[in-house]
Amino acid sequence: MDTFIGCDFGGTKLLIGEIDETGRILNSKRYDTGIKKHTEAAAYILSCLTDYIGEAGFVGKPKAAGAGVVGVVDYAKGIWRSMDHVETTPIPLAALISDKLGIPAAVDNDVKCATRAEMMFGQGKYSDNFIYLNIGTGIAAGFVVEGNILRGANNNSGEVGHCVVDLSREEICICGRHGCVEGIASGSGFSKQAVCLLDQYPTRLEGVGKGKVNVSEIFKGADQGDALCMKLTEQAMDNLSNLIMNLVRTTDPDTIVLGGGVVSDGWLLPKICEKLNPSTMRGVKNGVIKSNFNPGLVGLIGAGAQGIVKLQELKHRLI
Ligand SMILES: [Zn+2]
Repeated sequence: MDTFIGCDFGGTKLLIGEIDETGRILNSKRYDTGIKKHTEAAAYILSCLTDYIGEAGFVGKPKAAGAGVVGVVDYAKGIWRSMDHVETTPIPLAALISDKLGIPAAVDNDVKCATRAEMMFGQGKYSDNFIYLNIGTGIAAGFVVEGNILRGANNNSGEVGHCVVDLSREEICICGRHGCVEGIASGSGFSKQAVCLLDQYPTRLEGVGKGKVNVSEIFKGADQGDALCMKLTEQAMDNLSNLIMNLVRTTDPDTIVLGGGVVSDGWLLPKICEKLNPSTMRGVKNGVIKSNFNPGLVGLIGAGAQGIVKLQELKHRLI
């Protein structure tokens, strides 16, 4: 059986696995991370691949591989440019993985990998013009326009977490602006906002200010009438619906797919949809829908899918 190797490198974990051509995961292994520099991360990915080959082995016959990583990636050249926009040593990660495994390899940004998984095996399968909006620890999007993933002049398209949705905000985002949606409606945004609003809104929510607050606890609190939880969810719904409507005006999609841990339980989706303006959304004929993938696995499937695409590109070049 022909198979494809995926490496999904995120802030806390590296998942290496093998998928078949339908996107089914045949085997996988998780490695802990926490590395902040992409040069160190690349070396770690390669050493974990060595471990994977020795420990897990392959189920089928791998034909190509893909890696999904945080930060800026030049997909066409197979280069990982940066994880933090500070250290920018170009790492030829696709070539390094290809040498390690002896098969063609591709590298892409993690959200673009998830977008690829949606294109090939998920909710974007029947659309050539959709937006994959990932709402997890951060917020970012993959834009599919006329069948292609938009990349941009610096391979940095889709950083929509830094779209301003509330000019009345005083807190300054890491990007230097005020009122970015990521600071309000992402997983980390919920936690930050809980701290900011704690003095004004009473709550039974535990652990505020002691790290990340679990969004499912916030949703449960909102259902029970907890004042802080109601405020947090209300402002997130307002800001996410505005973000979606702004994005609809940019690339004219027919489908919006929501992915990521903040939306995976389905609680937010109908509440966001209630706030969407029908006139703005009239061309989005498939509506705003939830990804069917497990948010913890979509990056791995998408990374493997980039391997499938790489192989197809090479075959086309030979014809
Ligand atoms: Zn920002």
